[in-house]
Amino acid sequence: MAGPDPRAELRELAAWQRPLRADFPIVAANPEQAYLDSAATSQKPRRVLDVVHTYLTTSNANAGRGSYPWANATTAMVTGAAERVREFLGDRSAKAEEGAGAGAGPSSVHFTSGTTEGLRTVARDWLPLLLRDGDEIVVPYGDHRANLDPWLEARDLLGAQGVRIAVRELPCQAGTGDYDARALAALVGPRTRFVAVTHVHHVYGADMNVHRIRDAVGPDVPICLDAAQSVGHQPVSVADLDVDFLVFSGHKALALPGTGAVWARGERGPAFRPGGWAGTPNTAGIASLAAALDWLEAAGVERIARWTAALASVLTDGLSRMPAYEVLGCRSSLAAGTEVQRRGSIVTFRHHGIGSQDLGFILFSHGFMVRSDDHCQAGRDPRDGSVRVSLHVHNTLEEMEKLLTALAKLQ
Ligand code: PLP
Repeated sequence: MAGPDPRAELRELAAWQRPLRADFPIVAANPEQAYLDSAATSQKPRRVLDVVHTYLTTSNANAGRGSYPWANATTAMVTGAAERVREFLGDRSAKAEEGAGAGAGPSSVHFTSGTTEGLRTVARDWLPLLLRDGDEIVVPYGDHRANLDPWLEARDLLGAQGVRIAVRELPCQAGTGDYDARALAALVGPRTRFVAVTHVHHVYGADMNVHRIRDAVGPDVPICLDAAQSVGHQPVSVADLDVDFLVFSGHKALALPGTGAVWARGERGPAFRPGGWAGTPNTAGIASLAAALDWLEAAGVERIARWTAALASVLTDGLSRMPAYEVLGCRSSLAAGTEVQRRGSIVTFRHHGIGSQDLGFILFSHGFMVRSDDHCQAGRDPRDGSVRVSLHVHNTLEEMEKLLTALAKLQ
């Protein structure tokens, strides 16, 4: 079935995208370079940098302590940023607390340095509260290592305290990495107390269809979602996805390096802030995160998703006509409809004759910044590399066409 023509989509959105691209100072200052590594970390719009500058030059102080105006302003800014994260993630319980709904418990937001620290926070601070001796957890073995190591470490730590936990491998379909929801349903039993999943795969670029996971595991099993590659790239709603923990990287969503957050549904465990206000949070980073979410919302996350998916389609379509290349993951793009996985803003590929590191260097000499290695994928041999192109709103059709021209010459 023919889907939307990616070039028509890009033409329709061009007038919207142009000023947004101009809003990224580093992009505007380097017109000959194409930054194609937003899945590793994103570039920052001017407004985000301005907010950080204003904060640091007008009211920089520590949060949660002190009662002079700058300290009060910083505490209010951090609390407001947590509220902003809740809203951005479609958390309806934030409103429920104000009396708009029944039964929804208060959720909590914990700022971290990124998704790795966020998943570790869930594993360290919540998981032990959810588990008893003999319980089972189900986790993915083929996603980012950040979504495997913390669960294995938690099992070992609990084991050392006499609490034996079994870790089951979340089944995936060969080739696409998509979760096998039917096999998962068969794996879930009365001792299953926790499931970890990934929203968008960081190598295959595929939306992992996690809306099916709740049906597969039932209403009582807490689900933790690694949303590193979805927040800031496509609309994300904790209410629609029906997850209990959502972890993301602020720095991949246009905020400063060293930013991220864990959102935790209140009913699943204590809505506590690990350590209370002890320790100094990354206040400038938190200010940048709230500003980035404002920027994304004003730009329109749904349109960002359409723009980057259309660019990714142009790239996958072009690569599929070059026999020297193999595109990893689902073959479909938006054009294939929703039966199969949708590809978001990531395209990963290999050249049959040129190693990924060499290909990365060659592409850099043509002005393209890509990632070329094993992409921290669990279970993958580091020598088994590939080149990943990951996009954000500042990327353009011209960049994709130049990249395809450079790749064609290397056939
Ligand atoms: N999970 C996924 C799916 C990722 O793509 C990444 C980053 O590459 C991470 C986790 C780790 O994120 P961070 O660098 O913010 O710790």
